[in-house]
Amino acid sequence: MADESDLDTSILPLEEDNIDLLNESTLDMDCESMLHALAFYNNIIDSTESKEFKKKPKKAIRVNALAIVKIGASQNTYIAQLEADSKPKPPPKKAKPALSTSKKQHLAVVKPKDVTRSSADTKEFIKKSIDITQVKAGVKKVANLRNGGILIETVSEEDLEKLLKEIENNERITENYKVGKPDKRNPQFICFGVSEETDEATVAKCIKYHCGVQENSNEVKIVHSYKSQRGMNWIFETAPGLYKQIMTMNKLNIGWERVSFREYLRPLRCFKCCRFGHLAKNCKEESDVCSNCGNQGHTYKDCSKDKSCRNCILHNEKARNKVDINHSCTSRLCSSYEREIKLLINKTNYE
Ligand SMILES: [Zn+2]
Ligand SMILES: [Zn+2]
Ligand SMILES: [Zn+2]
Repeated sequence: MADESDLDTSILPLEEDNIDLLNESTLDMDCESMLHALAFYNNIIDSTESKEFKKKPKKAIRVNALAIVKIGASQNTYIAQLEADSKPKPPPKKAKPALSTSKKQHLAVVKPKDVTRSSADTKEFIKKSIDITQVKAGVKKVANLRNGGILIETVSEEDLEKLLKEIENNERITENYKVGKPDKRNPQFICFGVSEETDEATVAKCIKYHCGVQENSNEVKIVHSYKSQRGMNWIFETAPGLYKQIMTMNKLNIGWERVSFREYLRPLRCFKCCRFGHLAKNCKEESDVCSNCGNQGHTYKDCSKDKSCRNCILHNEKARNKVDINHSCTSRLCSSYEREIKLLINKTNYE
């Protein structure tokens, strides 16, 4: 358990307005430190008396953690959720990896060789070239992709195979389009607060030991690392089978420490325009977009406007199901962000 001197002083009081910030700043904290900080800011304990902290019922502290989790899911206000959660609850289980909540999708990607074609053209071409009643494959939906491509989702893997076979045997299609299953990414996980003195070779060695692979194996890779307020955070990529194995553990030993870890899911987001799916260096926007209010001409540091999320505004312009827009576009409560996380899970090969 962290002692009080370790407390993250950048965390703001737990008022509704600060929820976004709290979620942001707790991202890189392990569960124990988060509970500690939450308890501190709710006056559940007097932070100057560490004995008190240990003595007080853990239940009260856990209630807060549950509230945070629930806000993410339901977008209820923090306060309402706290009241609803005032009844005793069984101790929370360790957060399950996204693996357990992800439903397998059966997807095919069709991309035009001629990049000037639109997704609508592609869709029409495929629909005309294939008699779906002959293939007898159940199509769930057809969605547009960037650069004129489309994504076809079927109801089962069997249906997907039938459809792919039909497409691959159709020369008219294969002359003009590249067809296949979407590329999947390997799962990643992040270890929190590793001592800065622990060098990369030691980190790699320890993780490979946990995965039960040889030191020269490339089934486990360090993706990158960054400095957080509580030490170095290391991000790893693993082969799917190894990921499953790692996720059965509670903590990992790295050097002389035992550290927390969890699945790492971070959608690609542009710092310039706040949109998902590309990086700032590839951004087509002419000037920066404020991440707090979604307007151009200033940054969030100089922003005096109300929070409003550019991604959710753009979503509402097109979609029938309208979502809340009164949050910054870096908020973890953003439904556009939640959608990107789901997409990332669907793109991950856990098997
Ligand atoms: Zn951009
Ligand atoms: Zn602004
Ligand atoms: Zn949003």
